[in-house]
Amino acid sequence: MVVAKVYFSSSRAKREEESLVHKIKRIFREAELDSTIGRGDVVAIKIHIGERYGHTYVRPKHVRAVVELVKELGASPFVTDTTGLDLTSSRGNALKCIEVATLNGLTNETIGAPIIIADGLKGLEGVKVKVNGLVLKEIYLPPVLAEADALISLAHVKGHPRTGLGGAIKNIAVGCVNKTTKALIHLKDPPYVKEDRCNGCSLCVKFCPKGAISIVNGKAVIDHENCLLGCGCWSICPEGAISGFRERHRAQVEFGLAVADAAYGVVKYFTPDKVGFINLAYDITPHCDCFTYSDIPMVPDLGVLASKDPVAIDKASIDLIRDSPGIPGSAAEELKIMNIGVDKFNQINLWEPLNFARKDGEPVPYIVLEASSKLGLGSLQYDLIRV
Ligand code: SF4
Ligand code: SF4
Repeated sequence: MVVAKVYFSSSRAKREEESLVHKIKRIFREAELDSTIGRGDVVAIKIHIGERYGHTYVRPKHVRAVVELVKELGASPFVTDTTGLDLTSSRGNALKCIEVATLNGLTNETIGAPIIIADGLKGLEGVKVKVNGLVLKEIYLPPVLAEADALISLAHVKGHPRTGLGGAIKNIAVGCVNKTTKALIHLKDPPYVKEDRCNGCSLCVKFCPKGAISIVNGKAVIDHENCLLGCGCWSICPEGAISGFRERHRAQVEFGLAVADAAYGVVKYFTPDKVGFINLAYDITPHCDCFTYSDIPMVPDLGVLASKDPVAIDKASIDLIRDSPGIPGSAAEELKIMNIGVDKFNQINLWEPLNFARKDGEPVPYIVLEASSKLGLGSLQYDLIRV
């Protein structure tokens, strides 16, 4: 059995050298993430840019620390994220993403490298990667990412309504693919038209970037052969006549397997030698950075983790969170999971604000971790090395 190495440095600090900026730089080298980067490489640093009204996401100075490390190695870094699934959403295209990133203080000036939204203006293009996974047969890598030589995942650790944990695996699985793959991960069916509600107004026809919708006998018809699955025609319809995101969610287990497949496809494309993982375990809210607000963190700040193994680093993050006390007044108190040693994200998908997608009872983080391990993405066994 492979026992992966996960390096951890606590948030505790009593002097400047113990700041997280310094610790990120130290742990990057300790975990030998520098070996993933060659001189002259173009390196993608994948973050989540956060949302318009939230305030819990990666700090610009921590992104800058990684940018500086990559530059010191003689490589060219860019910081990247991808557009949201629905074109009409607040991060639905690259222009909206840049606006949100700027609002959140993530600019070339603050982080020391350009932010390039990897899937183009609208996120419709992609480079096919065969996966033959547990649910997905293929994924589509954003064209910009497909041209990069190495990938550093710089994830903010938090809960997530569907993956349980938002960490390294979620950061690359959902965050490093185009809109079609995001839709394949989340949704079990392509959109369909509810004829009884459709009035034939043609708004969706004008909106569809693929020309996949036409009006036949006064009703919209979707050509599923041409449909990209995930651009949000359901949001543009004033009559609610196109089946929406929430109606078509995959069941929890299937979703978890699809996430593992996508993460596997991304690492397979780059090769494991060219991918490194850093998890920033602070502001550990119950929900993901893609929510438009921030709740009180569930546990105190923990610190920074680094590893070459995405499964091990996420498992270590979950275990460190489990072994922390809940913060009074947070979702941990509401869920009665305040005690040290109690899993904090096991049933997070059942908590009322996050149970919009599915109400299945499976312990969500472990579906993703076990499926990822089964695919050979990494190991559930790890040594935690404190630095
Ligand atoms: S926007 Fe809605 S109501 Fe209008 S044609 Fe499309 S499906 Fe029908
Ligand atoms: S019909 Fe398909 S391709 Fe057209 S907007 Fe809807 S999801 Fe996108």
